[in-house]
Amino acid sequence: MTDAAWSTVRNSLKGVIGDNNYVTWIAPLKLNGARDGVVRLSAPTNFVANWVNRHYADQILRCILAAGESVSRVEISVDGAAARPNDKVQRTLAAVPLVNAGRVAEEVEQPTAGLDRRFTFDNFVVGKPNALAHAAARRVAEGVSVTFNPLFLYGGVGLGKTHLMHAIAWELNARNPELRVLYLSAEQFMYRFVTALRERNVMDFKNLFRSVDVLMVDDVQFIAGKESTQEEFFHTFNALVDHHKQIVISADRAPGEIKDLEDRIKSRLQSGLVVDLHPTDYELRLGILQQKVALSRASYGDVPIGDGVLEFLAHRITTNVRVLEGALTRLFALASLVGREITLDLAQDTLADILRTSERKVTVEEIQRKVAEHYNIRLSDMIGPKRQRTIARPRQIAMYLAKSLTTRSLPDIGRRFGGRDHTTIMHGVRKVEELRTTDSQLAEDLELLRRLLQS
Ligand code: ADP
Ligand code: MG
Repeated sequence: MTDAAWSTVRNSLKGVIGDNNYVTWIAPLKLNGARDGVVRLSAPTNFVANWVNRHYADQILRCILAAGESVSRVEISVDGAAARPNDKVQRTLAAVPLVNAGRVAEEVEQPTAGLDRRFTFDNFVVGKPNALAHAAARRVAEGVSVTFNPLFLYGGVGLGKTHLMHAIAWELNARNPELRVLYLSAEQFMYRFVTALRERNVMDFKNLFRSVDVLMVDDVQFIAGKESTQEEFFHTFNALVDHHKQIVISADRAPGEIKDLEDRIKSRLQSGLVVDLHPTDYELRLGILQQKVALSRASYGDVPIGDGVLEFLAHRITTNVRVLEGALTRLFALASLVGREITLDLAQDTLADILRTSERKVTVEEIQRKVAEHYNIRLSDMIGPKRQRTIARPRQIAMYLAKSLTTRSLPDIGRRFGGRDHTTIMHGVRKVEELRTTDSQLAEDLELLRRLLQS
């Protein structure tokens, strides 16, 4: 394989694994030659070699094949020459005298390696659901004093945990490039640890993690149930806290709710500041969309967006910000391809699949609860036998909404209304259909309830 062919392969890999992974893992690889169907690559460190072997070997092979080269295997080894110490290595060496410092030092050499350029504080939209997490992250990023340790951020998928952690790292690095900030996922932590065990350089591992100024471990729930990794994590954690080094941790749930995590670790994780990122609300989603539109001007130019499109997306895609972004990217790509304005119709057509899975499923119970709240009656009366108008009417409204907003059958709805017969439900539904044309107050109530339930 020629260097030119390798460069083609690298380019297609970039498209497959994304810019960040590319810069961290593929760019450092060198082509050492190819013979007898084996392509030989070298990596600057053991760690990179192992990681690439484990995560990217297949993709590399596929891209080489796709480039028309005949190859049956990719071999990745460590480039001996790269172990030569340089300035930064020496600096770290001075700080951490240790057995085999060369390799350890290399790994903290680039504090911003693996960080997503877009995940900065500037690009983070603050709203009610994430205000506290954002403020805490800002505080840590000032890097002045360690006020809470660790900072534990948790919340569902795609709510911005990783974004905030990268933002902290970028900010710390901008304020003080000398600071040794190490960001990694709990999975990477484990992988490094296991590799260190296998290669018998646990001392290096320990020294690396104890030599950082700020340690950030993303998705810590990953180490649940992994005993020796937990053990090592616990010791690392304690060592850093003892030295007043800042730790930032994220997880998909609160420390106490992570199963198969040792109690002593749970309580350690709870000992600092625990903040959660709440599910996004409509305003935040709209804010994020507006910001993404502004940012995407750089890549897509000034694509006109029709009235109400962003509002529509913010309203309909409520699950997770990543999906919201994906939707917008798809719209932009399409609009710039066909040179059309992004209209509501185009959005609905193009995003049919996303919109379908994001459709919120309303339950009969939810309807009963909301309607009872709205009319100020007890939930038990909604289901119970009372017949006076002030209770019977809201009950019929709930029946009507249950029929129109869910896919339940009449008998099924009847069962959920205290075992009523399906004819009773049908009667209720008809009654409300009739009334809504004459009673404008009731029509308004229905509209309001429908909106409440579907948002
Ligand atoms: P998590 O780690 O919580 O699963 P991420 O941090 O990876 O979520 O966020 C998913 C995507 O949504 C990222 O592209 C991120 O930039 C974006 N995102 C999430 N919250 C915000 C926000 N408040 N402002 C701007 N972008 C956001
Ligand atoms: Mg994440």
